[in-house]
Amino acid sequence: MTNDIKVDYESGFGEGFNIIAGPCAVESIEQMERIGEFLSKLGIQIIRGGAFKPRTSPSSFQGLGMNGLKILKDIKDFYGFKVISEIMDPRHVEEAYDYIDIYQIGSRNMQNYSLLTEVGKIDKPVLLKRGMSATLEEWIKASEYIKMEGNKNILLCERGIRTFESYTRNTLDLMSVPIIKKKTKYPIFIDPSHGTGRKELILPATKAALVLGANGVIIEVHPEPEKALSDGMQSLNFDEFEILLDEIKRLRQLISANQ
Ligand code: PEP
Ligand code: MN
Repeated sequence: MTNDIKVDYESGFGEGFNIIAGPCAVESIEQMERIGEFLSKLGIQIIRGGAFKPRTSPSSFQGLGMNGLKILKDIKDFYGFKVISEIMDPRHVEEAYDYIDIYQIGSRNMQNYSLLTEVGKIDKPVLLKRGMSATLEEWIKASEYIKMEGNKNILLCERGIRTFESYTRNTLDLMSVPIIKKKTKYPIFIDPSHGTGRKELILPATKAALVLGANGVIIEVHPEPEKALSDGMQSLNFDEFEILLDEIKRLRQLISANQ
């Protein structure tokens, strides 16, 4: 169904609208097998899954760490996915190298300069999320820490910012798409899950991302969101994700028919 969604991985996602999907956190091999099989059938080429989880409370599930990355690698090898996963500690950058295709730097670490410097030294793409209180200028400057070390394969991801609004978990600043496109050459992704915190807003946010010309979205999907160990309220179940793909496919056809 989504085979027409082109992933231009080698050239840094130059073309198409890329839908990255997977759970907030890798929880078990069984969970990842279910998700891997489902996403692979739909033609999804990049799977997400957090192994090192930045949680507000130290008593919340912290992720499976290196064991989580090993599970991701098994799923990747079986289905041929590319894997994106977050690294929080500069000491893990090298250790994770064989398991991760795209390093994610999370919102909370956007200005962790020693981490940025470390991922700047590797030859794999880095997806740099916007800090939840960062201006666009600060975000772009943070990307320069990666570039200065030699790694120019940078993807930027808008994931919403803190405002006085509390209906949504964050306020998704969609204007970052045209602004980042104007100010940088980097692909720009939208994270409608963290950007809204509400599963019913993921589809409208994804539609908006497509219409604005974003390079793609990163969406949390879980077989049983109500049982997820993190971020269940902003994760789509399998049926909801299939509906989203159908709707996005329809919208893409509409856009290309009118171009
Ligand atoms: C995530 O993608 O799982 C995550 C923690 O995102 P953010 O850094 O945007 O909060
Ligand atoms: Mn999450």
